[in-house]
Amino acid sequence: MPQKTKHTPMMQQYFEIKAQYPDAFLFYRLGDFYEMFYEDAEKVSQLLELTLTSRNKNAEDPIPMCGVPHHSAANYIDILVEKGYKVAICEQVEDPKTTKGMVKREVVQLVTPGTALGKQESDAKQNNFLTAIVYDDDTKNYGFSYTDLSTGEISVATLFDDETVQNECSALRTKEIVIGSELPDELLSWFEAQSIVQSKQKIGDVEAEFSYLMEKVSDELAKQSIQTLLSYLSDTQKRQLSHLQQAQVYEPSHFLKMDYYSKYNLELTQSIRSKDKKGTLLWLLDETQTAMGGRLLKQWIDRPLLKLSEIKERQEMVESLTQAYFERMDLKDYLRHVYDLERLAGRVAFGTVNGRDLLQLKQSLEQIPMIQSIIQGLDSGQFGTLLEKLTPMDDLVGVIRESINEEAPLSITEGNVIKDGYNDELDTYRDAMKNGKQWLAEMEAKERQATGIKTLKIKFNRVFGYFIEVTKSNIQDVPADRYERKQTLANAERYITPELKEMETLILESQEKSQELEYRLFLEVRETVKESIDRLQSLAKSVATLDILQGFADISETYQYVRPEMTTNQSVIQIENGRHPVVEKVLGSQEYVPNSIEMDKDTMILLITGPNMSGKSTYMRQLALTVIMAQIGCFVPAESAVIPIFDQIFTRIGASDDLISGQSTFMVEMMEANQALRYATPNSLILFDELGRGTATYDGMALAQAIIEYIHEYVGAKTLFSTHYHEITTLEDELKGVSNRHVGAVEENGEVVFLHKMMEGPADKSYGIHVAKLAGLPANLLHRASDLLENFESQAVHTTDVTEIVIEKENKPVDDVGQLSLFGEETSESSEVVNEIKNLNLLSVTPLEALNILSELQKKV
Ligand code: ADP
Repeated sequence: MPQKTKHTPMMQQYFEIKAQYPDAFLFYRLGDFYEMFYEDAEKVSQLLELTLTSRNKNAEDPIPMCGVPHHSAANYIDILVEKGYKVAICEQVEDPKTTKGMVKREVVQLVTPGTALGKQESDAKQNNFLTAIVYDDDTKNYGFSYTDLSTGEISVATLFDDETVQNECSALRTKEIVIGSELPDELLSWFEAQSIVQSKQKIGDVEAEFSYLMEKVSDELAKQSIQTLLSYLSDTQKRQLSHLQQAQVYEPSHFLKMDYYSKYNLELTQSIRSKDKKGTLLWLLDETQTAMGGRLLKQWIDRPLLKLSEIKERQEMVESLTQAYFERMDLKDYLRHVYDLERLAGRVAFGTVNGRDLLQLKQSLEQIPMIQSIIQGLDSGQFGTLLEKLTPMDDLVGVIRESINEEAPLSITEGNVIKDGYNDELDTYRDAMKNGKQWLAEMEAKERQATGIKTLKIKFNRVFGYFIEVTKSNIQDVPADRYERKQTLANAERYITPELKEMETLILESQEKSQELEYRLFLEVRETVKESIDRLQSLAKSVATLDILQGFADISETYQYVRPEMTTNQSVIQIENGRHPVVEKVLGSQEYVPNSIEMDKDTMILLITGPNMSGKSTYMRQLALTVIMAQIGCFVPAESAVIPIFDQIFTRIGASDDLISGQSTFMVEMMEANQALRYATPNSLILFDELGRGTATYDGMALAQAIIEYIHEYVGAKTLFSTHYHEITTLEDELKGVSNRHVGAVEENGEVVFLHKMMEGPADKSYGIHVAKLAGLPANLLHRASDLLENFESQAVHTTDVTEIVIEKENKPVDDVGQLSLFGEETSESSEVVNEIKNLNLLSVTPLEALNILSELQKKV
């Protein structure tokens, strides 16, 4: 950057301010524009596609500059922040008209990715979290806290390893982290890889001001992280933060634990294929009517419960709602009219609400008594705690109803915000204005009569105030003694009279006074609302909860889900005719083949064999989703279900994530397997899909077997393990806790069709060759394949890999032990005969016809 000394006082001021915000774009207010200079200007002009110009163009070294009009700055700022940049908004804090010399300027707000409030309408169901982390090098613990500035919620935890920190950041989708102390390098480089904005922050003196927010926090490190968070907020926001809520202490260990990749692979809240949430569990479960409900639901899905009593509490409420269809429909209707109470409360605190916001608040609060009475009607104990907080706020409704005009404009300074009859003084001004207008109308009529000029008009503009306008053709009739000429236009003359000016003063004065008064009254109302922010926030929580629960009830009814029986120490899974809820929703329930999942307390591992595309992975995901749904209190897609409460879910499914990390598939597989093997407990669920596929056959098979043995011996977690390695299905005989499953198939019209049905026992090892045969591969090739298979088998190194290639091409492979024996001797004739027999409707043929058909068939074979 050039020497300061050479520059004008204004540029010097710019440098001084810019020096305090080196990592932000400085939006420097100049009149009606925000200007950027030097590198800021170069970068911003590129990012926002603005024209890059320069200040003092003709000087030796002109200053690069670009600008945006102040009234449309918000959009530009949103775009920059969305891209991960920070913007320091620098305003003139003195009135240029009354200031001699340089106008004082100050940064009034630093907008950052984690504190941006922009674009809320489209992201109503999304939180934007800012996270703060401090690290204690002695204990190796982390203080971890986060807030959504728009709603004011703050959560805090003490975390014990970087992995949990990473998982939390990923789950929160945090875009910005404030770092309050030195952090270990690995964690910092992980943040960089995630392109999270890191803001270094010395803990400022915020404790006193905000100590009430930390009443529930006892851990010192946790406290420090909140202080870091708060001092960052007060540094950047420079405005009232009275809506910040008491920090809630949480412990990740109180929730079902899943690492980020598992959440991602199971598509809980984020789709693997697309940017939106379509196809995710959140998408399926989100029948919420309010933005608050939508945001809370995402949090629920990220943190399924572990406590039986808490799960049951939610289940009870859902059950009660499923049994009351009409009440639920009414409830939905009322909820639909509830606006975002949390964010409205936030805006009240920031002082950015307008009249319409308060009307929305009123409308929302007006629904509460109806909602309350519906729930009271249903309640026989289930809704206890929720009902307690679901209290109407009639006082507030009353205040807003009396004070705010139903047709309030967006602006709060231009009048028409406050209702008639609310304030006597205001009414007097309004009368004066109204009378004045009436008087003007009368005067116009009187003057027309007096002068005989029919087109004479009384008009108003900002420069002259009120005046009388007469067209040129009529000026000869103007009474020169009374009218004073003020302005000449091309085809009209404008006049004033002393009488008119007198009235004008009255009218304008009352207008100005009434606007001032209205603004004052509005602020008073806003203050009153502000006193109720706590109550509003707690009401918002219970409305959000109720909203989620009615959605659960709705979905359970639509898709026929059942209330699962949750157990804590039985280790039995009994899901009768379960479904993968998302695949079922997409395919339709007609298409979806239900599958039971049964594991008694001695069955630890289901070993699932079957070709590609037969439904193995869907079956495994089905279990995981069912467990998660159960632990967030929702009903589950099955005819009946008994499920133990799991403490953790580990998955190794799919390969899409490998691309992101840049590690080899196999390495990622092994790292994930390692997590599971180390940290799983007998209460955990492990899903391993085709583990070991990423390496050579022997290697992979050996590892797969060793892993199964290890789980069996040392881990004891319930495990679904799908594999191509047919050999290891013999483990069933050796290990008591292992049980084989395979995907069934049938042959139809000469083609093999998957049933997507899980059956007991291992897959038939030679199904691939059968499929190849059906696909019409040359007979001698098939013979050769059979020989090879026998050969491999005798050497005990057979895998189904060889046959998979064919299967993928055919795309419709299969196996089923019973059915396949039929295909064994198959020829094209026999398959035709089989089909005819199959298609025969025995109920509609006579014995004689049957005999004829039989004779025809005999001729064919
Ligand atoms: P695999 O893991 O064996 O390769 P997938 O589980 O990926 O197979 O399933 C392949 C496809 O089969 C899925 O995309 C799904 O559409 C369909 N599918 C799986 N299970 C079922 C089922 N139970 N009912 C109907 N279709 C299913």
